[in-house]
Amino acid sequence: MSFFGRGRESGAESRKQRLIRNLREEGWLRTARVISAFRKMRREDFVPPRYRDAAYVDEPLPIGLGQTISAPSMVAIMTELLETKPGDKILEVGAGSGYQAAILSWLVKKVYTVEFDPHLARQAEDNLSKAGCKNVEVIVGDGSKGYPKAKPFDKIIITCATPDIPGALKDQLRPGGILIAPVGPPHSQILTSLRKRSDGGFEEKNHMYCVFVPLRH
Ligand code: SAH
Repeated sequence: MSFFGRGRESGAESRKQRLIRNLREEGWLRTARVISAFRKMRREDFVPPRYRDAAYVDEPLPIGLGQTISAPSMVAIMTELLETKPGDKILEVGAGSGYQAAILSWLVKKVYTVEFDPHLARQAEDNLSKAGCKNVEVIVGDGSKGYPKAKPFDKIIITCATPDIPGALKDQLRPGGILIAPVGPPHSQILTSLRKRSDGGFEEKNHMYCVFVPLRH
């Protein structure tokens, strides 16, 4: 590797460390496990080449076809809310770049991530394989139907805006499991978490306003 190349890399590394420090100070990154996943994964490998220098700015970035990779703070918030355990099996709706799935792959046993757009699904698969994430399966399809083949899931994360939480996803969550989703119309949603009770009911919590690209059918 050239001297110049090394310099660029350590630049990204120090920007990453600074971002992680800020996310901890702001209270979005809270637990050692999630912090270690942020240290491990390289967000610059999940964004298009022309945005690489902005990979450690706390902003969403375009990933093509009108879609976005979420801001690091949003990935931190959602990942912390999922309360991941090493044995968890997780379903994600909206693979996008694959970055959220990569963070989760470091924390749990298995991640299934469904992506509506075949081109983005291929790109996510590529990014994940380059990042060495072997416990993630990318599925092309409509994630609002879930992935019945692998149910029940310990945790479910929806990373596109949905007017309400699809019944199929509630059904595919195991009792005691957690589902999180941006719920609301296209331009403003409320980040919502559900915990499934053993009687099949749900405890719902509203966390904050957020903006995600809409779920498509
Ligand atoms: N989690 C992603 C960001 C998701 S952006 C990341 O880490 O980069 C939202 C994604 O949801 C887009 O890629 C969009 O194509 C996808 N999407 C929209 N509707 C969907 C559906 N019904 N099923 C699965 N994916 C969907």
